[in-house]
Amino acid sequence: MIQADFHIHTTASDGRISPPDIVLQAVQAGLTHIAITDHDTVDGLLALENCSQAAELTVIPGVEFSTDMPDCEIHILGYGIDSKHVPLRQQLALLKNDRLARIRRMAMKITELGYPIDEGEILAVAKGAAAGRPHVATALVEKGYFASVAEVFQTLLNYDKPGYVPHYKMTPDEVIALIRQAGGVSVLAHPGLVGNDQQVQQMIETGIDGLEVYHPQHDGAATAKYLALAQNHGLLISGGSDYHAISGRFPEKLGEFSVPESIAKAFLDRINRSHE
Ligand code: AMP
Ligand code: FE
Ligand code: FE
Ligand code: ZN
Repeated sequence: MIQADFHIHTTASDGRISPPDIVLQAVQAGLTHIAITDHDTVDGLLALENCSQAAELTVIPGVEFSTDMPDCEIHILGYGIDSKHVPLRQQLALLKNDRLARIRRMAMKITELGYPIDEGEILAVAKGAAAGRPHVATALVEKGYFASVAEVFQTLLNYDKPGYVPHYKMTPDEVIALIRQAGGVSVLAHPGLVGNDQQVQQMIETGIDGLEVYHPQHDGAATAKYLALAQNHGLLISGGSDYHAISGRFPEKLGEFSVPESIAKAFLDRINRSHE
């Protein structure tokens, strides 16, 4: 039996559970196949190289890139990548460094907005991760300025709020090409959250290999729509929980969300094939 979740974050980016603990919890939850898909880093995969628990299930190497489209931010997942691929690692280093520089810019901006905070206080929360807005939000909650991470996003950090600071992103073409060079396949993450199906169509024309059809924030209608779209274009079909271990955000625990078995099987066949 296959029980698969192909979209999971760890403490290497903005997830709250370390890579070895993710593996432990996945095994305990009965998952047989997982993909680690941190934002802009493969550090979580490297951390599993000497993890004995990782032998008890299949861990597919993944990564999630953010890209800019004219009207929105689009996330692209890469699966089956070689985490040692030199151009991939060089590019990830650039992205991660810019995320660190952005933390400094955010600390300055948020301080000016009346919530004094030091870059170091945010970096202490991020602990070496590819730092992002969730780390900033957590640091602000820890300082007592806000009651919850959600409140910080609503007040300061959402795209249209005053504390938002952009970070360096590659274009969709560049991301798709880099994933391919690194031996992987590209999948448009949570197309239902893009909020504009013309952009989704544009990504298909740009050459994306697959669509993340199954996602906790897709309702039945969205799932059916993207399933049909993927089938009509002969695209790879994927899915996952987008787990960050944030309380109040489904799923609260690994294993509460998994991909239909026939879909998982076809996905795994394709990932394995791209390695032959
Ligand atoms: P960044 O890539 O640093 O701009 O941060 C984006 C990340 O913030 C996303 O991957 C989500 O995991 C997280 N995020 C976005 N909105 C919220 C929210 N309202 N509450 C908690 N996390 C959020
Ligand atoms: Fe995230
Ligand atoms: Fe995403
Ligand atoms: Zn994600």
